[in-house]
Amino acid sequence: RDLPLSSPLPTDVSVSFEFFPPKTEAMAETLWQAVRRLEPLRPSFVSVTYGAGGSTRERTHETVARIQGETSLDAAAHLTCVDATRDEVDAVARRYWEAGIRHIVALRGDPPESDGVYRPTPGGYAFAADLVTGLRDVADFEISVAAYPESHPEAASAEADLDNLKRKVDAGATRAITQFFFDTAVFARFRDRAAAAGITVPIVPGILPVTNFKTVARFAGACGATIPPWMASVFEGLDQNGDTRQLVAAMVAAEQVRTLAAAGVDTFHFYTLNRAELATALCHILGVRPAAPDGVPSPGA
Ligand code: FAD
Repeated sequence: RDLPLSSPLPTDVSVSFEFFPPKTEAMAETLWQAVRRLEPLRPSFVSVTYGAGGSTRERTHETVARIQGETSLDAAAHLTCVDATRDEVDAVARRYWEAGIRHIVALRGDPPESDGVYRPTPGGYAFAADLVTGLRDVADFEISVAAYPESHPEAASAEADLDNLKRKVDAGATRAITQFFFDTAVFARFRDRAAAAGITVPIVPGILPVTNFKTVARFAGACGATIPPWMASVFEGLDQNGDTRQLVAAMVAAEQVRTLAAAGVDTFHFYTLNRAELATALCHILGVRPAAPDGVPSPGA
């Protein structure tokens, strides 16, 4: 087959970026540098995560509202079912609507680390599909949900997990964003299976550019993502060599997005970890370039 770098790519790629709410002033500074640097790429939206167990409720709200209010970006808020009653979740959603936020990434959420096992909160939304249904009654939000190319780790089976995705879409979600994955064939197979199951909304690959291989390898299993042997091999021996690791990470992620794009994928969601460098480079490779101030794409775009 053609090498990805010589393959024709879709001409109109759209992207979105995910951030997490900062804990400190220094982290806020890093986040805002990333937001400002990525803004000219005109993503279709940017989203802000919601900490495990609802631990970042206020910080998520503050970050989403500030992005919406102070930039040209459309901000989406992640919202989970964990540790809150329906009334409490609905109140958070209503507050978002009042702040001008029109897009929610609706998730079941993970339990706080100390707990380990997910248990629905009495009087709460049990699963993401229930949350999607509830949000529909709060306001006319655009709703995105999570999808798992390698199945969610707690799913009874791959089929049951796909049925669950279908339920979320039938309840009103208009986009599924995937958990990160590294084997592009896994994504292609998942997209085909979803289409065969009658899921017609866009399934957007979640791209995690890996800068810290050790950390990703540690939590991948718990997220339902496999680390292919070739990946462990290319990062081997680089734990103490940040510069080389960064270059290797860029190469790995570039190959992943080029391969997906060459297979016709034209929408990407980047887990930025609040850093702009790799996401910017990957967008550039995909032909997503900053707009000139008058809105005309810059020369060479
Ligand atoms: P669901 O779709 O509810 O599914 C959870 C599990 O339950 C699956 O195994 C499913 O098959 C099963 N299931 C669903 N319904 C039923 C049922 N009726 N009976 C039995 N089993 C059922 N987590 C956070 O805490 N904050 C975030 O901001 C966040 N952002 C994320 C963004 C993306 C794009 C992704 C992919 C994940 C994100 N997560 C986040 C992680 C997510 O919360 C976890 O993966 C969580 O374990 C599952 O959430 P879900 O929305 O996929 O759950």
